[in-house]
Amino acid sequence: MENDLKTIVLTHYGNGKLECVKCGFSDIRALCLDHIDGDNKLNVAKRAGGALYRLLKNSNFPNGYQTLCFNCNFIKATENKERKFNPEVYEQQKITRMLKEKSIYKEQMTPEVINEYAGMDFFARYINSLSWYHFDLRDIYRKLKLNDTKKILLRATCLKLIRQGKLKRVGKGKYERLVMGINI
Ligand SMILES: [Zn+2]
Repeated sequence: MENDLKTIVLTHYGNGKLECVKCGFSDIRALCLDHIDGDNKLNVAKRAGGALYRLLKNSNFPNGYQTLCFNCNFIKATENKERKFNPEVYEQQKITRMLKEKSIYKEQMTPEVINEYAGMDFFARYINSLSWYHFDLRDIYRKLKLNDTKKILLRATCLKLIRQGKLKRVGKGKYERLVMGINI
């Protein structure tokens, strides 16, 4: 149902084709809706799931959106010097939800809790939650305020994902995800 809705909306905003309007990439798993003028709030809604798709369909497809692949979306964001959404907020919400799913914590995730409890599965899920294919370990260190022990565990997680063919090292501390969905 959700996927049908996504297909309908992305096809509309792909000018009648289920593909990126910039490069023609057509794997729905890596397509997203882009607000042409850039708008943080709506892009957060996009990330949150089908709410925006439903809204657009029910509003008879207003102008101002286009279908992009993640790469083109990220490139556009970089070129425009805009963030498509607030990564700090998004990642914090994601961590909280992941940990709630695991029933480990009931309260807001804090660096203290991460530094106490996070394991390889947590880091694999965290990497999986990133919205782009390339990431730099230093950004994750900083965002999660990792201590030295957890930095080592994060690097070990990356090595494990590399062995599983899910990740590729592309530079010092820089990695590329080879698949969107990483499970450990
Ligand atoms: Zn593209």
